[in-house]
Amino acid sequence: MPIQILSPTVAAQIAAGEVVERPASVVKELLDNALDAGATRITVEARGGGIREVRVQDDGSGIAADEVELAFERHATSKLAHASDLWALQTLGFRGEALPSIASVAQIICITRTATEEVGTELRIAGGTIQERLPRGCSPGTSITVRNLFYNTPVRREYLRSESTEMVAITQVVQHTALANPHVRFTLLLDGRLALQTNGSGDLRDVVVDIYGLETARQLLPVHAEYGADMDAVQVRGLISPPSVTRGARTAMHLMVNRRVVQARGALAAVVSEAYHTMLMKGRHPIVVLAVDVHPAAVDVNIHPTKAEVKFRNPQRVLSVIGRAVRDALVEGTGVAPWSDPAHASELPRRFEVRPAPPASLRSAWGVGDSVWTTQSRWDVGVPPPATPLGPEPQAALPAPEPATSPASVGGADVDGPPPSAAPVVATPTPDPLPNPAHLSHLPPLRVIGQVGLTYIVAESPEGMYLIDQHAAHERITYERLMQQRGQGMIEAQELLMPITVELPPAAAELLLHAGEQLREWGFSLDAWGEGKVRLRAAPATLALEQAQQALLEIADYLNGQGGSTPDDWREAMLTTLACHTSVRAGRVLSVAEMRELLLALERCTSPRTCPHGRPTMVLLTPGQLERQFGRRV
Ligand code: ADP
Ligand code: MG
Repeated sequence: MPIQILSPTVAAQIAAGEVVERPASVVKELLDNALDAGATRITVEARGGGIREVRVQDDGSGIAADEVELAFERHATSKLAHASDLWALQTLGFRGEALPSIASVAQIICITRTATEEVGTELRIAGGTIQERLPRGCSPGTSITVRNLFYNTPVRREYLRSESTEMVAITQVVQHTALANPHVRFTLLLDGRLALQTNGSGDLRDVVVDIYGLETARQLLPVHAEYGADMDAVQVRGLISPPSVTRGARTAMHLMVNRRVVQARGALAAVVSEAYHTMLMKGRHPIVVLAVDVHPAAVDVNIHPTKAEVKFRNPQRVLSVIGRAVRDALVEGTGVAPWSDPAHASELPRRFEVRPAPPASLRSAWGVGDSVWTTQSRWDVGVPPPATPLGPEPQAALPAPEPATSPASVGGADVDGPPPSAAPVVATPTPDPLPNPAHLSHLPPLRVIGQVGLTYIVAESPEGMYLIDQHAAHERITYERLMQQRGQGMIEAQELLMPITVELPPAAAELLLHAGEQLREWGFSLDAWGEGKVRLRAAPATLALEQAQQALLEIADYLNGQGGSTPDDWREAMLTTLACHTSVRAGRVLSVAEMRELLLALERCTSPRTCPHGRPTMVLLTPGQLERQFGRRV
């Protein structure tokens, strides 16, 4: 083929690929434009996964009648005149690419009016070509309807995921944007149903209530830090969850730089996670809403066509301010020092100083259930006490060894239980670390001796003495049982004679109802029950009903983050979530018979020594270790 210049239509379609990847990217671009136009109310409507139709309506400045066509021209923008303006940018847009790109791959109806005009304009465009233009009565502001996305680029259309996945992506974009703009009132309708409504009060916590529910919002801790001035100024504000409020998916990390939503990954996300170091359990993620503001010249926003990434001029400085702000908020809010290594520890206030203390011992403070241990039992075995509420004496805090094998990760801190106590790890007097029983494949026969701390089962075996985390063990058993049932194609369900009503954030309820079929395979049967409520008619037999709400919230989270995940990921997520919300929790008295049954079931598991999250279910104390402890052997 000879060299030839592409026709403007083809060139536009190719360029559109950079900006318009899926319906959610259309929503993002239209939202940016509405915000740049100073809107205070924005309504987003999506139908058929946003592929059939997306509409964004705002009460912003509107587009003057004689500029409407121009707005759809390539590189036409009212936001930037010189390249140097990039360094003083106050707007989200500046490339003049979104409207022409969207128009080249869809059918558009733009209705707009400025406050000074008496009548507005309606412009219809399809595949980049203007079809019709009429005067039109409307209130000031702009409404852009995008229909049949990719109708003229069938290959792109084929690459789209299912309607429900696209709806999830749209919901996420609107949620992110609403969190970045608490002063704007957002409404999201999915197939005509209300999925999100914020009040535009300007209070970030109000938006969090609408997205994560009142109970969660109430628990979030404020973050506020300001450093430097002018070019060096860094301001960090927002809300973060204490370590006890976590999610199974990373989708609850919302990061904004100069009001721009940026992807929660790379160094920026890492510095936030790092600040929680050792306070979160494996596979759990905090809820984080952080707005970072720097001088417009201190950040390059033009490194990505969708502007989802930014580059700081002085990343070290900005990142350290963010990390510090999050750590301070955690310390303030929980009274727990989120130290991770001695270097960090040295930055902490004195009261959190790391210092050696006498070895831990388990004292009478430990409640004794159906146990043959007397309240005088006193062990000195380097096993940490459980977290509050049992709260033994202050312990020394030393840097944690490998998280997965550390005794600190045994039980105590339940998934939705209290935060780990101020001393996640205690000084262990033994020179050699506890063996990690996860290395051993099979369980020996275990003889139940009793229960300590309402959390651990004490058992004896020829190998030595075992401490078994009752909740972790039960999680493992349930997980394998569910896996087996799933393999046989049937999750055992409990039909509820009295269906229970579960209150959820409206977006979560919407997601769950959308995924009704998928959830039925796991034993759930749900109906809509008014806004933000679902009726649970059946649930998996292993689920503790009082935890139904928590489990459903987690499932909604997974659905929400499903974007790139595979059916295997989904299966694993469901197994882990359901296994976690069973009836045997830490803090429950178990009879000897119950403990025996639990251990028998555990012995039958294929991986009895770890819970589905990868933490150990048990700690072994060998006779040799005990002998060393008692000075019988060196
Ligand atoms: P950019 O946002 O980068 O300038 P767009 O293609 O998204 O490029 O929009 C082109 C122009 O159309 C904008 O610069 C703005 O002047 C105008 N415009 C687009 N959407 C709106 C809106 N909702 N309200 C007012 N003006 C708008
Ligand atoms: Mg734009």
